[in-house]
Amino acid sequence: RAKDEGRNSFQLFEPAMNARSLERLALETALHRALPRDELQLYFQPVMKAEESELIAVEALLRWRHPDLGLVSPADFIPLAEDTGLIVPIGEWVLRSACEHHRRWCEAGGAPLHMMVNISARQFREEGFAAMVASVLAETGMTPGELTLELTESMLMDDTDRALARLDHLRALGVCLAIDDFGTGYSSLAYLKRFPIDELKIDRLFVRGIDRNTRDAALVSAIVSLGHSLGLRVVAEGVESAAHLAVLRRQGCDLAQGFLFSPPLPWDEFVAAYPPAGAAP
Ligand code: C2E
Ligand code: MG
Ligand code: MG
Ligand code: MG
Repeated sequence: RAKDEGRNSFQLFEPAMNARSLERLALETALHRALPRDELQLYFQPVMKAEESELIAVEALLRWRHPDLGLVSPADFIPLAEDTGLIVPIGEWVLRSACEHHRRWCEAGGAPLHMMVNISARQFREEGFAAMVASVLAETGMTPGELTLELTESMLMDDTDRALARLDHLRALGVCLAIDDFGTGYSSLAYLKRFPIDELKIDRLFVRGIDRNTRDAALVSAIVSLGHSLGLRVVAEGVESAAHLAVLRRQGCDLAQGFLFSPPLPWDEFVAAYPPAGAAP
């Protein structure tokens, strides 16, 4: 990389790279302004009981409405937000906003609904993370037991003793903890024994082929059994077809999330599709 080869390297002026770094710089500058300019928005995707297709939970998914680029995918800006540290204030905004939406749900007479919020590695490692969660819970009146924080395997493998202390701290607040994208990380199962986890979310990579591919089906079935034998709820991500759901039901998977039910929706559309007080008579 040019950066490692000294300041005078002509490679710094290699046009493609220059364009890329300028683009990144522009995106970074814009991301700094995204929060104060109110360009961030949460979308909400329903999570259903696999057996009865009943609404059980909702995952908050971040969207950035860039003034010129339009809707920017989290896959494109979360890594940048992590590198710059902007994920810390953005993540706090996400959590507060998710809890505020949950309160609106309760005020509208909605049945108990878990709110699932993605947490990034950088956020999780912040010294004051658990204290931030505690103060958002207090400020928004969120029932801790109805909040699930989604973590990833790699976050727990980094520094296991500190990770364990952080998880214990979060659990002491009463919130639930899920492992997102389960099966795609370090795939070390040792932490499942030690860590106070409530839920596994099977990555959609494994769900995609379950109706056609016996290996995918075997893997998902094994994860469901593993989860259940440890007393965990198991959620399948990326459920796109009735055939996917049929296999997951047979395998006893608890919850399902995916385009079969709904894509992530703006709050008003989510509430219109899943009226809090139940279906109109
Ligand atoms: P994730 O947490 O694993 O979220 C699931 C992703 O799969 C979402 O993508 C969702 O829109 C997509 N999805 C849901 N159902 C289906 C389906 O049936 N088929 C397919 N092909 N895709 C489906 P999205 O919203 O683009 O988010 C991507 C990732 O960005 C998330 O993956 C999560 O890791 C991250 N992310 C999103 N919001 C936040 C946030 O507020 N904070 C942090 N730290 N990360 C976030
Ligand atoms: Mg997630
Ligand atoms: Mg996921
Ligand atoms: Mg995923």
